[in-house]
Amino acid sequence: MSKKAIIIGAGPAGLTAALELLRNTNIKPVIYEMTSDIGGISKTVNYKGNRIDIGGHRFFSKSDRVMEWWKGICSQRTDGIFLLRQRVSRIFYLRKFFDYPVSLSMEMVLNLGFIRLIRIMAGYVWGKLFPIKEEKNLEDFFINRFGRQLYLTFFKDYTEKVWGVPCNSIKPDWGAQRIKGLSVSKALGHAIKTIFIKDKSIGQKANETSLIGQFMYPKLGPGQFWEEVARMIMDKGGEIYLNQRVMGLGVDNGSISCVKVKDQDSGQIKTEYADYFLSTMPIKDLMFGLEADIPGEVRRVAEGLRYRDFITVGLLLQKLKIKNNTKIKTPNNLIPDNWIYVQERDVLMGRIQIFNNWSPYMVQDPDKVWVGLEYFCNEGDELWNMPDAQMKELARQELVKIGFIDDRDVLDSVVLRVPKAYPAYFGTYERFDLIKEYISRFQNLFLIGRNGMHCYNNMDHSMMTAIMAVQNILEGIISKDNIWSVNTEQEYNEEEGKNRK
Ligand SMILES: Cc1cc2nc3c(=O)[nH]c(=O)nc-3n(C[C@H](O)[C@H](O)[C@H](O)COP(=O)(O)OP(=O)(O)OC[C@H]3O[C@@H](n4cnc5c(N)ncnc54)[C@H](O)[C@@H]3O)c2cc1C
Repeated sequence: MSKKAIIIGAGPAGLTAALELLRNTNIKPVIYEMTSDIGGISKTVNYKGNRIDIGGHRFFSKSDRVMEWWKGICSQRTDGIFLLRQRVSRIFYLRKFFDYPVSLSMEMVLNLGFIRLIRIMAGYVWGKLFPIKEEKNLEDFFINRFGRQLYLTFFKDYTEKVWGVPCNSIKPDWGAQRIKGLSVSKALGHAIKTIFIKDKSIGQKANETSLIGQFMYPKLGPGQFWEEVARMIMDKGGEIYLNQRVMGLGVDNGSISCVKVKDQDSGQIKTEYADYFLSTMPIKDLMFGLEADIPGEVRRVAEGLRYRDFITVGLLLQKLKIKNNTKIKTPNNLIPDNWIYVQERDVLMGRIQIFNNWSPYMVQDPDKVWVGLEYFCNEGDELWNMPDAQMKELARQELVKIGFIDDRDVLDSVVLRVPKAYPAYFGTYERFDLIKEYISRFQNLFLIGRNGMHCYNNMDHSMMTAIMAVQNILEGIISKDNIWSVNTEQEYNEEEGKNRK
């Protein structure tokens, strides 16, 4: 290996880039990761044998290339990693469950009530007859697709919990990426279709991503998969250094020449040189660490980039009070959901993950229930700074309040804080192109991944950006346009993206 690439971050994008370099080039990848974990936000946290997946990571992609990449890693192990899981997720609102994706059940109609249903239908028809001509924000985006009443019932409160700002101050781009072509007609069409046809293929090509019915999932959570990838990287001669934080990037003659890396334990800083640099660190941090004369306007955009942070409270429960009233058979008759969107206004939690239903191997004692309560917040705000004991108590009280548990059934709990979980599409995001344009001058610097590109990427999109970057290095492609186009188009076309220079 005659050349070297420094990769910042051992999340899905950084690890994919390293393995792709080892498989396709003679460039040696060296990864610096600031935490002591492999997998970035897609890691699994092991708490006394009970595992937490931060966010619940479905391994599902519309990209055959990514699906094959995932399966290829597992086929090299004899015991396999992936389980095929059925997706069950519902909305909890008015202390009742509503299917998500929507189903055409009598229960749904009864739970909504006749008057609310009529208002939803009227709102939808009105929205279709008189659409908002220019979708200026996320609220307009939702109303045009679902009608005002449906938006107010099922989307507004949850979305505002996630982002902490009103929907009308968020750019519509997030909706376009997140729920792509989803609309009432597609959701209803899907609900009717699933009565007659069950798409059992794992690719589920005909379905919108929000509507997919099954997904692959590693037995021990997503971290198990990424730890396996890390092992393969090291077996092939790549290097991974944990607890090493990249603080700065040196510039020489218009190219990136080195990184300044701080050992998190000793505090020592060393300088490491390489030929290529692939970064998944938040672009805001990278801009501050770049030893270059950045124009004031570009610096201001970087300063104004915003993020949303995240707390998961893991609760080990003797049992749930709420009963499984669905037709789905489950161990101990546990409710079948992988996750539940909590739309209730009187609690702060945004979602409940039921880890038993992601994989029974996530729970040490299968007779117990292992859940994660998700709270969206901003680093430094009241919730973020709340002492662990108080946070655990809040989670317990809220779960009792919405009728999910009895007070006495909490056996243990743990709090995890995840900074910069979501790159936000507000703040100075509107002028993000200025950063893109400025950074394009450094030909040997490749921004990839979620926070690396400040783009709401899932694992598959983050991986695609890494795959593209390696391909560009291999083929000597200077433009980064194909990397930036991943997940920005309504229907991303892999082949087209691959060939675009
Ligand atoms: C709640 C939630 C649910 C999700 N659900 C899904 C899902 O179902 N399916 C799916 O595919 N995706 C899902 N995702 C998205 C998925 O987590 C991300 O797309 C993926 O982890 C991004 O990978 P990445 O490598 O780009 O970034 P990250 O995972 O953020 O990894 C970046 C790494 O860089 C490290 N780093 C940062 N700064 C530095 C520095 N200065 N020096 C050294 N290291 C640094 C970080 O510690 C981290 O390990 C979800 C995300 C969230 C928050």
